[in-house]
Amino acid sequence: MSDTENRIVIAIDGFSSCGKSTFAKAIAARLGYIFIDTGAMYRAVTLYALEQGAIRSGIVDEEAVVALLDDMDITFRFNPQRGASDIYVDGNLVEGKIRTIEVSNCVSQVSAIPAVRQKLVAMQQEMGRHRGVVMDGRDIGTVVFPDAELKLFMTADPAVRAQRRYDELSAKGQQVTLSDIERNVRERDQADMTRAVSPLRKAEDAIELDNSHMTIDEQMKWFMERLADVYRNRR
Ligand code: C5P
Repeated sequence: MSDTENRIVIAIDGFSSCGKSTFAKAIAARLGYIFIDTGAMYRAVTLYALEQGAIRSGIVDEEAVVALLDDMDITFRFNPQRGASDIYVDGNLVEGKIRTIEVSNCVSQVSAIPAVRQKLVAMQQEMGRHRGVVMDGRDIGTVVFPDAELKLFMTADPAVRAQRRYDELSAKGQQVTLSDIERNVRERDQADMTRAVSPLRKAEDAIELDNSHMTIDEQMKWFMERLADVYRNRR
């Protein structure tokens, strides 16, 4: 097999704040693959909708959001300092603005809009066309790349997840309470699992990973064994 044929798609789905992006980023660095955080794309649309007045007082005007989509240009640019790509909307860096609680509170409503998903899924499929990608989200193994060679489904204890997200946001200086985060994580999981289009669910062929009590090194060791299985089964 040539090097290009060897490159696969790794799909990582799962609940909110399980550490999917941290893990996906570490895997991509290890394999020399491209890492794509699809949650950042849904967050970027949500931020733009907030800024353009298509969401007011937490109420999402679906038609207004859809009307914004055509003119909205989302791009990624690799940031060597972060070891990951930053997201830009119409050329403006929005990476630092998309992870606020305000965006988190509206993103599940925005991501449930079919036209939003259509646009972003098409972009994601294009980015992974040459394989060699690690993509994390909610529907990667079920909808975006149902043919991904390796699919993971991540879970963790809800209290552990809320604490992780709280620590992450506090470290960035955001004023949040643990109970706000807990509520947001719970509500997003519920909304993501019950939406009509591409709900969050484990693909039949995905391997489950509960990382509640695992370090990133332990997760990486586990992952490398699963990856070895993929190549062993291909021979
Ligand atoms: O991964 P993250 O928590 O940043 O994702 C934010 C939100 O974006 C999720 O709660 C979900 O509503 C939406 N999302 C999605 N499909 C994806 C990735 C994220 O619907 N592939």
